[in-house]
Amino acid sequence: MPDSRHLGGRRPIREFDLIRTLRHRFGDTGPGVLDGIGDDAAILQPPPDRHLLVTTDLLSEGIHFDRRFSGFKEIGYKAAVANLSDIAAMGGIPHSLLVALAIPPSCTASEIQSLYHGLMVPCRTHEVTLIGGDTSSSLKHLLITITMLGWVEMGKALTREGARTGDLLFVSGTLGDAYGGLKILKKRKRQSGPNPLRPHERYLVARHMRPTPRIALGRLLATHQLASSVIDLSDGLSGDIRHICQRSRVGVTIQAEALPLSPQCRRFAREQNKDPVEFALTGGEDYELLFAVPPTKHHSLIRHAQQLPIRLTCIGTIRSHTYGIRLQLPDGSTRNIPHTSFEHGQVTGLP
Ligand code: ADP
Ligand code: MG
Repeated sequence: MPDSRHLGGRRPIREFDLIRTLRHRFGDTGPGVLDGIGDDAAILQPPPDRHLLVTTDLLSEGIHFDRRFSGFKEIGYKAAVANLSDIAAMGGIPHSLLVALAIPPSCTASEIQSLYHGLMVPCRTHEVTLIGGDTSSSLKHLLITITMLGWVEMGKALTREGARTGDLLFVSGTLGDAYGGLKILKKRKRQSGPNPLRPHERYLVARHMRPTPRIALGRLLATHQLASSVIDLSDGLSGDIRHICQRSRVGVTIQAEALPLSPQCRRFAREQNKDPVEFALTGGEDYELLFAVPPTKHHSLIRHAQQLPIRLTCIGTIRSHTYGIRLQLPDGSTRNIPHTSFEHGQVTGLP
């Protein structure tokens, strides 16, 4: 039940007013939504012959986002993209979302509305409707839980299982840009005074702040059944490839030279005296798709992918489980890819 419980501090937020505003500004009913925000539960009409996809993500202030680096709009945008990207990785059409918030005293009503503004930008692009949520208070930190629903044709969902020895490993877009952008934002925070970004830095920051969920690619892979195994890159290639290998019980060789790097990322890594390959392997939040393609479907993939405005790169080959997870260097030697994991805002295990 909505009540007039006060949330927030400086200008207390009334739960009832907040929900009413959210309903008016963001709670349109879209196709398949018979009733959205306002009742005890939303009522949806699933299309015939579809499976329902459901994913949820909890974002915790100080762990997954930092209000010192990002505005509420940007936090909302990225939170929505993380969920859209999960639906993309299953080959689905995103449909609707629910947003549960625990709001600390330090947040104002207009900040919470900015959060929803940001959230709804990529959602509107993909015709995703806000159908509900929950609102509570928190002592100190903002907590955001998003649940997203989507549909996929029965039997066509893309999973992490199914990669086989000999399949080719592909990735969309370029890798490591978002990590470069994060490093730039952190560096700027430490410096005082005006410090305009140079064009390659601006590009990397934009890739960090406004990643693109690869919905169209996921749909292409699902509808034409082109991939044997798919995951989205949220934690970084070196960590996420492990999920494909474990769930499919396979190994992999990744060619270091093949990793797609933007010129902006190469330049930034050079300025930092770092190897951009490490950015590509360990940086998180690229939200690109990583997928295995059986050799028989390779040509079909290339043909269909011409419809998409994104680059696809073959970066390796699936091997047997006993081979392990290895990086092949330009001289032909190989080394194990260590399990470095991107811990939301920081990378652990970087050399
Ligand atoms: P209940 O007490 O049954 O949980 P609420 O008062 O929490 O009901 O919610 C009333 C309506 O507002 C419901 O449709 C719910 O989904 C929606 N809602 C509540 N909080 C949010 C929120 N933060 N974002 C979007 N919708 C919300
Ligand atoms: Mg509630």
